[in-house]
Amino acid sequence: MICKNCDYEFNGNYCPSCSQSTKANSRLTFKNIIADFFDTVFNLDRGFFFTFWNLLKQPEFIIQGFINGKRKRFTNPVKYLIIATAIQALSESIIMFEEQGIPFTSFSLLSNELNQNMHLWNQTLTLDYPILFGIINLLVWPIPFYFIFKKFKHNIPELIAVMIYIYGTVVILIEVMAFIHNPLTGKNMSIELVSFMATVYMIYVLLKFYRRGSISWRIPRIIIAMIFLFVFRMFILPFSLAYFFPLN
Ligand SMILES: [Zn+2]
Repeated sequence: MICKNCDYEFNGNYCPSCSQSTKANSRLTFKNIIADFFDTVFNLDRGFFFTFWNLLKQPEFIIQGFINGKRKRFTNPVKYLIIATAIQALSESIIMFEEQGIPFTSFSLLSNELNQNMHLWNQTLTLDYPILFGIINLLVWPIPFYFIFKKFKHNIPELIAVMIYIYGTVVILIEVMAFIHNPLTGKNMSIELVSFMATVYMIYVLLKFYRRGSISWRIPRIIIAMIFLFVFRMFILPFSLAYFFPLN
């Protein structure tokens, strides 16, 4: 049999060179596409919902497993992020209401004009470019953890994988809650509630992820890293954008 994906000649059910299944060598049919979709999303051993459920129940099992080489056991971070973003887009088109705008934080040391511009940038990023904003976060969030938890020797890509799992799970949790909250109250959940939930889940995952350290060692370090992320979100990011790329 000759693999149609990489032209390698072999016997057996999987190509030893690129791991494509022999089943995939037949002609594309609707059945393949649908089976592949269900396998990716619902497969009970490693599908998306299995990964999501375990990221709630025992996040360290998924995250450490993936980092330590169980790359096929769970939905990998990139796929996880794409599916979570798709669920978010779908549910926002169904149950989200007109956004009320986001709270305004002003810094008395800065000029009025700069404050206004920071607010404008905050609004633009969160409401108009949520995906770009998500990517910025995923690239910045690992930085404080890289330095503060240096002794665990995780590299930046490993920490990005951790953050993607956290981020994707928070996105889905919020959509699940919005499905109950929004129709009942007639409005979206507040930014404060969403941020609170995200913070609680992130601390929970990090406490488990760094469980090799004692609890009294972990907690202050996680808090310091989270404070950095808070300052980055509330001040550093909007300030740099408003300062270097003012919006009119
Ligand atoms: Zn092949």
